[in-house]
Amino acid sequence: MMDTQAAGWTLAIHGGAGTIPRAALTGGKEAEYRAGLMAALEAGAAVLRAGGTAGDAVVEAVRALEDCPLFNAGRGSTFTSDGTIEMDAALMLGEGKAGAVTGVTRPRNPIRAARAVLETGRHVLLAGTAADAFAAAAGLEAAPADYFRTDHRLAQLQAARAQDQVALDHDVPARTGTVGAVARDAAGRLAAATSTGGMTNKRPGRVGDCPVFGAGTWADGTVAISCTGTGEAFIRAAAAHEISARMRHLGETLEQACARVIGTDVPAAGGRGGLIAVDAAGNAALPFNTAGMYRGVARSGAAPVVAIHEA
Ligand code: ASP
Repeated sequence: MMDTQAAGWTLAIHGGAGTIPRAALTGGKEAEYRAGLMAALEAGAAVLRAGGTAGDAVVEAVRALEDCPLFNAGRGSTFTSDGTIEMDAALMLGEGKAGAVTGVTRPRNPIRAARAVLETGRHVLLAGTAADAFAAAAGLEAAPADYFRTDHRLAQLQAARAQDQVALDHDVPARTGTVGAVARDAAGRLAAATSTGGMTNKRPGRVGDCPVFGAGTWADGTVAISCTGTGEAFIRAAAAHEISARMRHLGETLEQACARVIGTDVPAAGGRGGLIAVDAAGNAALPFNTAGMYRGVARSGAAPVVAIHEA
């Protein structure tokens, strides 16, 4: 899916990539996912429509996806092998600011904790209980452990344990998926945000690609990117930064750079998944090498579009 826009604002979101069987989306489930994606697009688009920044827009879009229990971030996050929930979130602005948290258990919206880290201007990545304490001290709303736990994720954990697998949540025939947003605002600023519960049955303490800048999340003056998929492979491939590097050093288009990373580099590093990206001209790319990726695009002057499987 490639989308071109010379000016104005552009927002793209994802709710995770994976093998999403159409058969698992019966009984109105597909409509529920589409509604969740549409609500997140609207939350981010409202910021951009009002002249807000790309950074505020991606935080709002991701906040909406974290609040929706269908997606693997915030409420509805996947479980570790110990049956706990450890969440990661990251925010990066094209002007060179970054903030992330990893292994947090308390902030209702981990993406807001990531933004609070960014706003310190002093640190880039905070981990675990210290990051939970930092978020509380920053005045962010905390939620009890039960708030994040959902029955469908517990069922996924049991299935993954039975097969001794560390699974992309989308690959278990239930519900999905890590979330992210990228935007270019009307003033040309770029931003990327990603938030996740990680992979089902992951080892406690495991850190995925989402909070590793250059792997699952990246923004600079050229492009903003948020990834989803097998985090270890995205880290090995430095996937998000590689897209920027190919555009800047090889002169590749957004579409060419994304196609190379998702089509060649990530599989070569042993993984699968997808990403969303917006460049400085407002072009959007949403490639994936799985059977589907929950995704959507909104831009000034056009109706928002959401999709799940290949077109
Ligand atoms: N990339 C995430 C991680 O490895 C998982 C996902 O996208 O579903 O933590």
